[in-house]
Amino acid sequence: MTIRLLAPATINRIAAGEVIERPAAAVKELVENALDAGARRIAVSIDGGGIARIEVTDDGTGIPAAELTLAITRHATSKLNDEALVRIATLGFRGEALPSIGAAARLTLTSRPHGQDTAARIVVAGGAVGPIAPVAAPFGTSAIVEDLFYATPARRKFLRTITAEATACADAVRHLALAAAGVAFSLTIDGATSFDLPAQDRRARVAALYGRGDAEALIALEASREDITLGGFISPASLTRATARHQHMMVNARPVRDPLLRMALRVAYRDIIPAGRHPLAALWLEIPPDLLDVNVHPAKSELRFAAPDAVRSLMIGAIQRHLATPAGVAAAPSLRLGPAPRNTAWSYPPQSAPGSQARGFAEAEVALGFDLPPSLRRAEPAADATAYPLGTPIAQVFDTYILSQIGDGALLLIDQHAAHERLTELRLRAEREAGGIASQFLLSPVPLDLPDDDVARLLAVADDLARLGVSIEGFGAGAILIRALPAALGPADPLALLRDIADTIAATATATALSSRLDAILIRMACHRSIRAGRRLGFDEMAALLRAMEATKLAQTCPHGRPTVVKLTRGDLERMFGRAG
Ligand code: ADP
Ligand code: MG
Repeated sequence: MTIRLLAPATINRIAAGEVIERPAAAVKELVENALDAGARRIAVSIDGGGIARIEVTDDGTGIPAAELTLAITRHATSKLNDEALVRIATLGFRGEALPSIGAAARLTLTSRPHGQDTAARIVVAGGAVGPIAPVAAPFGTSAIVEDLFYATPARRKFLRTITAEATACADAVRHLALAAAGVAFSLTIDGATSFDLPAQDRRARVAALYGRGDAEALIALEASREDITLGGFISPASLTRATARHQHMMVNARPVRDPLLRMALRVAYRDIIPAGRHPLAALWLEIPPDLLDVNVHPAKSELRFAAPDAVRSLMIGAIQRHLATPAGVAAAPSLRLGPAPRNTAWSYPPQSAPGSQARGFAEAEVALGFDLPPSLRRAEPAADATAYPLGTPIAQVFDTYILSQIGDGALLLIDQHAAHERLTELRLRAEREAGGIASQFLLSPVPLDLPDDDVARLLAVADDLARLGVSIEGFGAGAILIRALPAALGPADPLALLRDIADTIAATATATALSSRLDAILIRMACHRSIRAGRRLGFDEMAALLRAMEATKLAQTCPHGRPTVVKLTRGDLERMFGRAG
């Protein structure tokens, strides 16, 4: 074996694997270059998931013709001198992106610096650099990437579906557009405008990207500690989403996905939002560059903080303080006791009970939204309820668990939310199998403002949603009209439900089978009907829930597979008290 130096083309292909993992990474690098060049307007267009074509055009400083070759040469950068690695103020600095893209794809770089009469163009394809040619072009730079990974087929095999790659590209652009709210940004996907935003302040940019309705409810946050500052917008506890898609962190204007920051956000909300839900958050952290190492990974999206504890406690403390303000508390009552929100035209009459004894149960049934076994209607409530497999309710604990006692004296703890979610899911499934989920028209249709890409995603599956009992239609740019919801969901909040469905569709874009995506939507819908943890139940409601659970063994777990019932026997109690031998 002989040791030899690798050819530059080989080195670039190896680097391409790290820097450009997927089309979204190429998009991110090109937009970062445009921002570093001081662009005021950036246009991104993506075709075929970014694999076929990516184009990023900016009106920044441009690259002089004489430097075009250097721009696509590895480790050539205008942004770093050798002493400055500890204080990085630009998004790029490694001088790797353009050569890596040029090694894996066909890259056409056209640039015209301000004050120059003509532009110049260079093409790199699979690492082979072409000559520089003069062309006509406006001031600024355009980078076109075609046939990504054609020169590195191994990488191509790891790509997901075109839709999934397009979604990842769009997510990257959204994150960058938030990080640089003061720059006009447009995104076009397969010829359709996804968004086209003027230079904005942060609040307006968040509203444009998260949807206006949600943005109005967000709480502005401001905090600092020594020379670290945190600012941005967070949702009150009452406003959560099905996925973490609306969480964006920016550190010194750099979009990041940092585990420490994500964890801090989760901890800050842990005890006040239901498990499995995610707050919305757009947060900008400013930290002196020398307290930060951005050079942890070639993609530059993870960080190392010199004082991680300070960052963590600043963030958790600031969020919890702001959630405790009147704005945060006033918006949170839906987590506590009380009827479901009635901000829609749903009619919600307590039906009259068929038999007098059953009145309590029948009302509970209306409130809970499922049918009781007919035998129960004649049963004396609480007469011999311990004969039922799930016993008789004796208390509600933490407004979340039902404590019940069964025949042999053992205690059961039932997770009311998980159990109810499961029953609703089973009911929806049964209806679907019986020919379609019954839907109920809203008394008046409800419009919902959403980002354009969510609107497109929802309308693309409108027919499938109709079979799930959800009827929607287009309502001009950036909005849909909600006409009907599944009857089984009762007085659900149509806006929250459709936002969650949009998030679920976006999050499952990678799943190939439509049936599994629809399944995810069905489970998501069930959650909307369910009695939340934190709602106080009457004894009749508790009993009704237990009786309905007994009708099916499937109710022993929630739709996500967690148990709904935990049993404590006399033996368990004796062991806990040290009485067992
Ligand atoms: P880096 O951004 O780490 O310096 P890149 O490979 O991304 O490395 O870019 C190399 C160089 O090309 C940059 O340092 C910059 O001088 C120049 N460049 C790239 N894109 C642009 C652009 N859109 N506008 C102006 N200059 C650019
Ligand atoms: Mg760069």
